[in-house]
Amino acid sequence: MSTKRWVLILVLISVLAAWSAGTLAAENRGVEHGRRYDRLVIRNVIVIDGKGTPPRGPLDVIVETNKIAAVRGADRRPGAYEKEAHVLDGTGMYLLPGLINNHVHLQDSRAGVAQPFEYSYKLWLACGITTVRDVGSDVRKTVQERQKSRDGTIAAPRIYLYMTAAGTTPAEARARVGELKKLGADGIKIFGMDRDIMKAAVEESRKLGLRVAHHVGVEETDAWDDAGFGVSTMEHWYGVPDAALDGSQNFPPSYNYNNEVDRFRYAGRLWREANPDKLKKVLQALIDNGVAWIPTFGIYEANRDLVRAMNQPWFKDYLHPALEAYFSPNPANHGSYHWNWSTEDEIYWKENYRLWMAAVRDFARMGGLVGCGEDAGFIYMTYGFTYLRELELMQEAGFHPIDVIQNATGNNARILGLEDRLGRVREGFLADLILVGENPLANFKYLYPTGVLDLKDGRPVVRGGVEWTIKDGIVYHAPTLLADVKAMVAAARAEKH
Ligand SMILES: [Zn+2]
Repeated sequence: MSTKRWVLILVLISVLAAWSAGTLAAENRGVEHGRRYDRLVIRNVIVIDGKGTPPRGPLDVIVETNKIAAVRGADRRPGAYEKEAHVLDGTGMYLLPGLINNHVHLQDSRAGVAQPFEYSYKLWLACGITTVRDVGSDVRKTVQERQKSRDGTIAAPRIYLYMTAAGTTPAEARARVGELKKLGADGIKIFGMDRDIMKAAVEESRKLGLRVAHHVGVEETDAWDDAGFGVSTMEHWYGVPDAALDGSQNFPPSYNYNNEVDRFRYAGRLWREANPDKLKKVLQALIDNGVAWIPTFGIYEANRDLVRAMNQPWFKDYLHPALEAYFSPNPANHGSYHWNWSTEDEIYWKENYRLWMAAVRDFARMGGLVGCGEDAGFIYMTYGFTYLRELELMQEAGFHPIDVIQNATGNNARILGLEDRLGRVREGFLADLILVGENPLANFKYLYPTGVLDLKDGRPVVRGGVEWTIKDGIVYHAPTLLADVKAMVAAARAEKH
């Protein structure tokens, strides 16, 4: 071989090496866990937006500090982003708006046992949740937590606090709403109030420009009042079928609402007693008055399948001992009522779910706004995982996966009144994004941090899990957050023994 030919081959090799190095260098270059960048490029990714539209791409998304600066067609030339310092390569991946969890309780203990806020924060972020709406917590503490999250000094989702109204007279309720506004409430939570007091609390909230979330239980008030007073959201569900009964539910004489076994056993027989014609009118009245519905399907699942709820695979590494102890049957702990739970109870609850899901689906079909929330920390349900289960249950209720993502992002942003800045992958919006290695529309189980067990060449492999969660422009590596949680749980368990 001539020298000339050798030189040519060497040049070719070095060009190829440089080209492949350029390609490799484009992969997640200069991105560190827990950092925010002046400019970050997420390249060559398929986007699933929060507005109910199908996936599109490949696109490049440019993030500048905490905002989405551009969303545009992918520049797929290998050297396209050579000069960029911070690049996430989204090839083969999916980019979604950060998930919004519109029903949580910020908890730093369970039944007197300490459980750091950090535990739930990191689980939420690892599950792709970048915003939470708290609907009842110790606000002296959680106001400070909200500030730390805003400042970016802790790894936590955005926090919105709906503070709980109280009062034994309408005047007291009005005064309390005013106090909560001064405390910095983002909204008001109403729970278990008599009608005249609730009416005053809602009126005062609206006067002060605060949204109202109502835990619609089996109380004096029901969904008719939610429509009449014009609350912003109904949480859970009881007051919907309750509003469609022809009289009282068929409770046995021994029934006691404060006995949670009674309460949840007979809740499982509530939907079947609703009058379908009346139900339709109730749903229409809610829609006419702009009431959104956050059904929280996930939190009640133990009622239809207790063994499933008690044996969720992530308990092994991620169930904090404080939560584990709280879940054991105990009448002192709200939601820990599963003793002597029966086959019959589960059968009623399975039917209850079918009717409930059909009502939520009808509500959306008729034009109602549906959102997603989890209510974890009770009834065998852990933070984050329960929210992802909620997405699966929304699909079971009959929502197309694209619409489920919309419920979880765009719709939830609307419910918070933040639809002009959250819940979309859109220029000018806040940089709350998640990057996932698999298509969640094909299987919501891909979003679980524990992934999906699959077979590759005859061997079991685990696929899925959120890879990167970006909140307010801060980039978190989800598996790193999970490793933190695992270590936290192991340490808490070791301390206990
Ligand atoms: Zn709740």
